[in-house]
Amino acid sequence: MTERNTSAPVYSLAICHLYPGLLDGNSDIGNLLVLTQRMRWRGIEPQVLEYHPGGLFPQGIDLIIGGGYASDAKKILTPDLPRIAQPIRELIEAGVPALAVCGSFQMLGTHTINIDGKTSEGVGVFDAYTVLESKRLVGNIITENAEMGTIIGYENHQGRTYLGPSALPFAQVISGAGNNGADKTEGIHYKHAIGTYLHGPLLPKNPLIADYLIRHAFERKYAESLPPLAAQQAALMEAYTDSARSRAMARPR
Ligand code: GLN
Repeated sequence: MTERNTSAPVYSLAICHLYPGLLDGNSDIGNLLVLTQRMRWRGIEPQVLEYHPGGLFPQGIDLIIGGGYASDAKKILTPDLPRIAQPIRELIEAGVPALAVCGSFQMLGTHTINIDGKTSEGVGVFDAYTVLESKRLVGNIITENAEMGTIIGYENHQGRTYLGPSALPFAQVISGAGNNGADKTEGIHYKHAIGTYLHGPLLPKNPLIADYLIRHAFERKYAESLPPLAAQQAALMEAYTDSARSRAMARPR
């Protein structure tokens, strides 16, 4: 029998996955897989707590993620959102990291003006609002973040999102549409929360973003620096990531 090293610290981080099943446009589930795997490779046990419509918002959350959605899902999400708006706001204001992709990015903003002209209220933690238009903005997108460098993904949205005067974009658009196809901003960065239009899924091609989220969740909970990835796994992953990134960047829009 193998002996366990009982003196080794046992780390764990709880991820709240918002509306799985409704919010998995364009394979956004891949973001969860990357987060949980990169946690395990650092000796951190991930605990995934799902929030479904009508449920109780989970306690003890260290990180929040949400993906994009197909238009039908909005009918279910919009009336449910007031149930979770306050806990999400409180967590993000308290520095809990979050990744909100596409429909979730819109949802965490102040409001969305729908095609029929009606307004849906958002969580209101991001100083941003969205106007849906019939023409979708679709294709490969390349952006640049000052700290993380080139961020690559695929966008597919009707929403045109406009940031408030104090809001910081997550990245600048190099090629593609981004938040609204006009002002070259992509996403939003507020405290440790990131809103973005990038699918792909995002994190396999941009693992620095996964590490940013994990680092802030870990440091907030344990007040220690994040354990490194095991060297062998890091090297293997780097090779896959580099290959995926160079292929994605060579693709036409
Ligand atoms: N229906 C929203 C839009 O098109 C969200 C799309 C998405 O999440 N992929 O803007």
